[in-house]
Amino acid sequence: MTASRKLAVFRLPPLPTIGEIIRLYNLRAEKQLSQNFLLDMRLTDKIVRQAGGLSNAHVCEVGPGPGGITRSILSAGAADLLVVEKDTRFIPGLQLLAEAAPGKVRIVHGDILTYKMERGFPQKLARKWDDEPPDVHIIGNLPFSVSTPLIIKWLENISNRDGPFVYGRTRLTLTFQKEVAEESAALSAPVRSAGRRRTFLACWVFCNFKHCFSFPPIIAFLLQSEVDVGVVHFTPLVQPQIGQPFKLVEKVVRNVFQFRRKHCRRGIEMLFPEARRLELSEQMLRTADVDPTLRPTELSIPHFRNLSDAYSKLCSDNPGLLAYDFRDELRKKRRSRCIKEEEEELKLK
Ligand code: SAM
Repeated sequence: MTASRKLAVFRLPPLPTIGEIIRLYNLRAEKQLSQNFLLDMRLTDKIVRQAGGLSNAHVCEVGPGPGGITRSILSAGAADLLVVEKDTRFIPGLQLLAEAAPGKVRIVHGDILTYKMERGFPQKLARKWDDEPPDVHIIGNLPFSVSTPLIIKWLENISNRDGPFVYGRTRLTLTFQKEVAEESAALSAPVRSAGRRRTFLACWVFCNFKHCFSFPPIIAFLLQSEVDVGVVHFTPLVQPQIGQPFKLVEKVVRNVFQFRRKHCRRGIEMLFPEARRLELSEQMLRTADVDPTLRPTELSIPHFRNLSDAYSKLCSDNPGLLAYDFRDELRKKRRSRCIKEEEEELKLK
């Protein structure tokens, strides 16, 4: 067993170090793009190990930059590595790496937020949703400003079983700001975790979510980053904890968290048009059997499940409700108030 695992691990030929690649191609980290590079191969190996065994796996690395994590993925024995990098400056360094691992690395110069991952790997890798996860992994150390919108997009993909999840329950290993990763892990505690974040609440609904470890920037980065980094591993759940579509769950969670310090009733009211706000929010809370005086941070996933189910029922009874956004109503009100004031002014002239 050990021998076969050893055989599968790939040994890259001697290459310039990541530091040398950075100097060779003049890859200055752009602070405004939050670019920080991992230089310590022991650390990149440790991050990659959190994905599980990669021997002969198909991997997509998001934002490879100068290629530290990329090397660790190859050394772990991945058969096929697709890298998606937005910044053109990194492409020559990645090509050097691709030449060192013939037939293993595919380079896409593009934006991971728009890249169509459903075309990234052969369809034959696909597994049924309730089977074991496929041998397809996503790994990445992206700027935090990208990883949050990305995980929201991927949660929706999980809910729809499209994007990277056409292959089944594709596993993700990503970095986040340490405090976000650690607080989010605390979501598994039943209630009252003050620091819970709404994005990660949605993660818990759709994924098995593990905070693997954290590290301070000082040991890892070329450019001094202010924040510690947490490595998080996600496996989509066979059965999400809430049986409603991501968009609906996200809308309920987002509105409830609108007023973090107020009673949850306040945020729930915002799901409904002003004319029927009190009536429908009371009906939703009653059907969900949720105490309206609980704070958003005191609500557990079963509370959100009941709220989402109750809201879904109201949406089927009231066509157009799902598309309602209180901000549109506010904007319209403001606009008509401005028009009225202008008309009054014209009358006075
Ligand atoms: N993974 C490398 C490492 O750990 O050393 C680089 C990390 S750096 C924090 C983030 C990398 O993601 C940069 O190479 C950056 O150009 C790339 N990146 C940022 N936004 C991206 C996007 N939307 N799509 C693809 N790559 C992106």
